[in-house]
Amino acid sequence: MTLKLSDIPGHEGFAAPVLPGGELARSGSAFTRTFIGYQAACSCGWADRRRFPPSPQGAKEAEEQWYKHTGPLLAAAPPNWLVIKSNLLCEQVANLTGDRPLAALTLLAQVEAWQRALLDRAVAAARAGGASWSQVGDAMGISKQAAHERFRDAEPV
Ligand SMILES: [Zn+2]
Repeated sequence: MTLKLSDIPGHEGFAAPVLPGGELARSGSAFTRTFIGYQAACSCGWADRRRFPPSPQGAKEAEEQWYKHTGPLLAAAPPNWLVIKSNLLCEQVANLTGDRPLAALTLLAQVEAWQRALLDRAVAAARAGGASWSQVGDAMGISKQAAHERFRDAEPV
């Protein structure tokens, strides 16, 4: 069974059969071969180290491990409805830029002002909540060093 969560595309989880050599079978064809257990795996390349028995219960337990993999990912995933609104705003401002560039500039300056303040606030809140610089960087698509250098002054006191 493939496990999916709509807020984290690119992560499809499954209980991968473990072959006698210890490698994980990635396709359904493995079910015709001998396997010695199940381990959780994800289409992103993540694989759990814990091995569960080669039984329906073992498969279920492996699948539960995948949900643990998704926890931090979901914490950093914005809701789909908000991503759609953000993409729509971007598209409409791009259209405005073509039609009325000065109006687009006025709007973009306003967005930049609240975006910077909200970014500092979100980093401070994430750090206060226990997020590491690595997690902050991952959420923004930058390195942990870059996140630290850029936001170290936003550290909660
Ligand atoms: Zn994944």
